[in-house]
Amino acid sequence: MATHVVIVGGGFAGITAAKNLSSQDFKVTIVDKSNHHLFQPLLYQVATAALSPGDIAVPIRSVFSNQKNVNVVLGRVVSISKKDRVIRLADGDMISFDYLIVATGAKYNYFGNDDWEKNAPGLKSVNDAIRIRERILLSLEEADKIPDVEARKKYLTFVVIGAGPTGVEMAGSIAEIAKRNMMRDYRNFHKNETTVHLVEAAGTVLNGYPESLSDSALNTLTKMGVQVILNSPVEKITGEGVQLKNHFIETPNVIWAAGVGGTSLLDELKDEEKDRSGRVKVNRDMSISSDANIFVLGDAAHFEGKDGKPLPGVAQPAIQQGKFVAKLIKNDLKSMPRGEFKYNDKGMMATIGRAKAVADIKGIKLTGILAWMLWGVIHIFFLIGFRNRFRVFAEWVWHYITFKRGVRLITKKDDSD
Ligand SMILES: Cc1cc2nc3c(=O)[nH]c(=O)nc-3n(C[C@H](O)[C@H](O)[C@H](O)COP(=O)(O)OP(=O)(O)OC[C@H]3O[C@@H](n4cnc5c(N)ncnc54)[C@H](O)[C@@H]3O)c2cc1C
Repeated sequence: MATHVVIVGGGFAGITAAKNLSSQDFKVTIVDKSNHHLFQPLLYQVATAALSPGDIAVPIRSVFSNQKNVNVVLGRVVSISKKDRVIRLADGDMISFDYLIVATGAKYNYFGNDDWEKNAPGLKSVNDAIRIRERILLSLEEADKIPDVEARKKYLTFVVIGAGPTGVEMAGSIAEIAKRNMMRDYRNFHKNETTVHLVEAAGTVLNGYPESLSDSALNTLTKMGVQVILNSPVEKITGEGVQLKNHFIETPNVIWAAGVGGTSLLDELKDEEKDRSGRVKVNRDMSISSDANIFVLGDAAHFEGKDGKPLPGVAQPAIQQGKFVAKLIKNDLKSMPRGEFKYNDKGMMATIGRAKAVADIKGIKLTGILAWMLWGVIHIFFLIGFRNRFRVFAEWVWHYITFKRGVRLITKKDDSD
């Protein structure tokens, strides 16, 4: 009988593991709470109205339409029983497993201030991107209606919290919208009235990147008109705005990009040691300490690299771990040794805006348009693996040439007649 591998999460790690278990020796079940695989690196393009959600998400079923040993289940996994070898879904369904791969990604961490979330959404799903896009567009609509410059200021103020790669991308992208063509469609305020703040608790942007790249990113953001506020932990977020140590920024437009943590399913792995963000500290073969046939991969895993630091929460570790564990399971069947996961670091990069990015590829540091082109090619062509990638690439280039922001629909409806 085929060995049953159950994969929770159809993200980069889960999809890669399933693709690499195509042999008929395996029956593979992927369970995901959403029906699509989401290409998160381009989410901010949806949030800032450059791409449509359909450009960056693909139904998980269609990814496996030609791989007959894969069954896709839509549902949220709520518990794991190691003893009985079953997982339970929110609707009560149970699925038994021989091997279990937990690849549930990460969620935003509000450091114990979960009530901040409603006023400062994070960018993690298509819904988040649409919610943020609508907030930005609605805010511009409000500003357009208010004749008094001071009174409309808050609607033209944007605050991004956290200056990691996502925060930097988001702040740069909003600054670009603010200064470019789209604003010309609003007749009653001037584009120079817009302010974008990027707030960071640490003393630098892109913390963890080589210093020269952090400095270059800070310079670029400043030139783009982003007001970067460093060494400034957020004290409170309300519907009125953001309280920092020394001042209050009044705005309804706050975006959270400050920290990520493990998803709630990881709490089910009670015997496992977790790091401060809630990620599971896994063995060198990606299995958990209490069960050799249960693995945690990608953003959900804490795995230390050669430098002793945990691998970054980016797509490459997730993809490589997916491949590694698939091979390991195949080897198990042949009673071959498991070996250890070794991360092949292909470099770090972050986009800041149109033709602006920083990259460190095996010690070679690039900035500006070269780094940006490289980001585009790597992310759109090599990571995406989607059938529509040529169209997405074309749209991306089109935005570069024209500065046009395409998808500016506000879908929140007024249903009354
Ligand atoms: C805005 C943003 C920008 C980014 N930019 C970059 C970038 O430029 N380059 C880069 O390399 N990386 C980038 N990343 C990070 C990258 O997307 C992640 O590191 C990667 O997606 C991790 O893959 P994963 O498989 O671990 O998890 P994910 O891709 O997050 O997939 C997890 C899956 O698990 C599912 N799931 C979660 N809980 C459950 C449950 N209980 N039951 C069922 N299903 C569940 C989710 O629906 C999801 O489909 C970015 C991330 C974000 C949010």
